[in-house]
Amino acid sequence: MTGYLVLKTSDCKNCYKCIRHCPVKSIRFENNQAHIVGEECILCGRCFVACPQNAKEIRDDMESVRALIAGGGPVYASLAPSFTANYGGRDITAMERALKKLGFAGAEETAVGAAIVKQQYDAMLRNESQDVIISSCCPSVNLLIQKYYPAAVPMLAPVLSPMLAHGMDIKRRHPDARTVFIGPCISKKDEAERYAGPVDKTLTFRELSRWLEQEHISMDEEPRRKTGERTPQTGREPERGLTRLFPTAGGILRTMA
Ligand code: SF4
Ligand code: SF4
Repeated sequence: MTGYLVLKTSDCKNCYKCIRHCPVKSIRFENNQAHIVGEECILCGRCFVACPQNAKEIRDDMESVRALIAGGGPVYASLAPSFTANYGGRDITAMERALKKLGFAGAEETAVGAAIVKQQYDAMLRNESQDVIISSCCPSVNLLIQKYYPAAVPMLAPVLSPMLAHGMDIKRRHPDARTVFIGPCISKKDEAERYAGPVDKTLTFRELSRWLEQEHISMDEEPRRKTGERTPQTGREPERGLTRLFPTAGGILRTMA
């Protein structure tokens, strides 16, 4: 696994912060530069956040998404639940308006995929198919287990992540569609390519924000949701409410309350 997170060599100041923050110690020093060992990295992004020099760079997929849209077929966005925090409380309707200006055919919350996945977790609990279930929603956790705790692999739920489930669902409803997942995590780039098919491309919120800025599309023009106001149901998505909690600690269990 290489190329998702790379080092801008000229910017590294040998402060060792990234090494101290890396949970699996997959960063080596060579010629006074930090280097990520791709086979050992779990793409958690902690070194990216810790680096005071901004020397770590996430692979930029904006141009490949532009090319996908320029290809002519409909391209749908799947937005991770944290979009609302990243874009100042905007709801999916506001995000979709902005994304349509970039050429997307539509946008939906990844929580639609979480609602599908939740049913599979419900069934696993009902059937008592595993004594211990580790959620397979986070690709960094999956990589951690696969690379460092292989004995725990059988405990991983044999269930798609909400991102992959949503990508498949969009393609089922729109057979000629291509899909782009947009969220906060680097590891989703690896997941989308490792399990190729449901999701064609991925962007981080940072990439999306830069793209909107380049096109002079300001989210400030979009209304914010008022405190306590419910997200409007557009009629396109199945019930998703609580499944927006999936990425939070204990979130899957809370959807089952
Ligand atoms: S945290 Fe950044 S500047 Fe410090 S050693 Fe790592 S890459 Fe270099
Ligand atoms: S992304 Fe995470 S696992 Fe990979 S090198 Fe950075 S801190 Fe280590």
